[in-house]
Amino acid sequence: ASATTPAKTGGGEGDKTGEEDDKDDKAAQSLLNKLIRSNLVNTTNQVEVLQRDPNSPLYSVKSFEELRLKPQLLQGVYAMGFNRPSKIQENALPMMLAEPPQNLIAQSQSGTGKTAAFVLAMLSHVDPNNKFPQALCVSPTYELALQTGKVIEQMGKHYSEVKLVYAIRGNKLQRGTQLQEQVVIGTPGTMLDWCLKFKFIDPKKIKVFVLDEADVMIATQGHQDQSIRIQRMLPKQCQMLLFSATFEETVWNFAQRIVPDPNIIKLKREEETLDTIKQYYVLCNSKEEKFMALCNIYGAITIAQAMIFCHTRKTAGWLAGELSREGHQVALLSGEMQVEQRAAVIDRFRDGKEKVLVTTNVCARGIDVEQVSVVINFDLPVDRDGNPDNETYLHRIGRTGRFGKRGLAINMVDSRFSMNVLNKIQDHFNKKIEKLDTDDLDEIE
Ligand code: ADP
Repeated sequence: ASATTPAKTGGGEGDKTGEEDDKDDKAAQSLLNKLIRSNLVNTTNQVEVLQRDPNSPLYSVKSFEELRLKPQLLQGVYAMGFNRPSKIQENALPMMLAEPPQNLIAQSQSGTGKTAAFVLAMLSHVDPNNKFPQALCVSPTYELALQTGKVIEQMGKHYSEVKLVYAIRGNKLQRGTQLQEQVVIGTPGTMLDWCLKFKFIDPKKIKVFVLDEADVMIATQGHQDQSIRIQRMLPKQCQMLLFSATFEETVWNFAQRIVPDPNIIKLKREEETLDTIKQYYVLCNSKEEKFMALCNIYGAITIAQAMIFCHTRKTAGWLAGELSREGHQVALLSGEMQVEQRAAVIDRFRDGKEKVLVTTNVCARGIDVEQVSVVINFDLPVDRDGNPDNETYLHRIGRTGRFGKRGLAINMVDSRFSMNVLNKIQDHFNKKIEKLDTDDLDEIE
């Protein structure tokens, strides 16, 4: 598949509502994950499958050959370096490629192979001899649509008869245009306009409809409505596919409106545990003292790579500066950076170009850097109301039982308030956090 990508247009956003902030945050996180992800997430969990018709046989494949893909597509799959289907693909692909087409709602965390799966389904279902759109895919943002578009182009590299077009802002077509491309990827607003207002697309001819990142999509009411309006214009027999990384009640309600009679596939996240982590706390009186303690720790133990979390951008910036002055190679990840910049910082850190990554809480949510063995909470994680944020604490320092190496977590406590937060975290996980005397560090590894 080949495509014309429109020139990137400026953001030009004005004041934002809380809802938009929330959506931006989720969309940015999702984009960041895509940019830094170079392979599949490991998982030992079993896929859960709920078939619409429980009496029909359940197919699962262990190889791409079994799917009888078009040779051009199989070539694309191998060119991308895929050897065998991922956990979720084992079940999702046969379901999506079955005749007659089946509807699917699938949920699994980012990096488990959802995008690759639906891209393969879209490319398999379109007929290159028909010069009109047959597969539509909606993504929550411009950037995410571009990312998915790239996957379509890569996967369809050897299938050049199939063409792709981007229904995103900035891509202005002449009135009266009838699209010739078989695949359209875009955002809900532009996609709806192209179907309804401009009639560039005849929705009645669509065979596959994909709604990606449903959880990000529903963070904007407008997107939800637009998606539903698009869906309503599609023929009854059109295959509906919906993907999401998370599955709270609101996502589920939306999913059911988009996908009638669905098969459902779910893959649980790997559980994180504190069992293999040594947890300590250090008592200090100020941020300067915390910095001193940090230097002492660095002087006493060999730390290959560490991540240090701060509550505010200001503290993170200050700390990164101080550490640099001490001669450390420091990477700083901060909220004012563009997603692409953040991805570049994480990549450099992963490659070991820097040994310390200083970051704010918000920024690092959802990213994992597996090789980090030491995590330092320069500030303890708290939510907006100042309550201990147990989930973030666990995600930051926890390891998945199976893949986790031993780790070390050090918490900096500098007030009665933060001592209280620490105690609550300790109680919550029922796992002792031991006091560390930074003037006498023989006891830690
Ligand atoms: P998701 O959509 O769930 O976030 P992706 O489809 O983007 O997951 O896949 C995550 C990463 O794994 C991508 O880099 C993708 O190229 C790669 N990937 C996907 N499927 C396979 C596979 N079967 N074998 C190897 N790598 C894969």
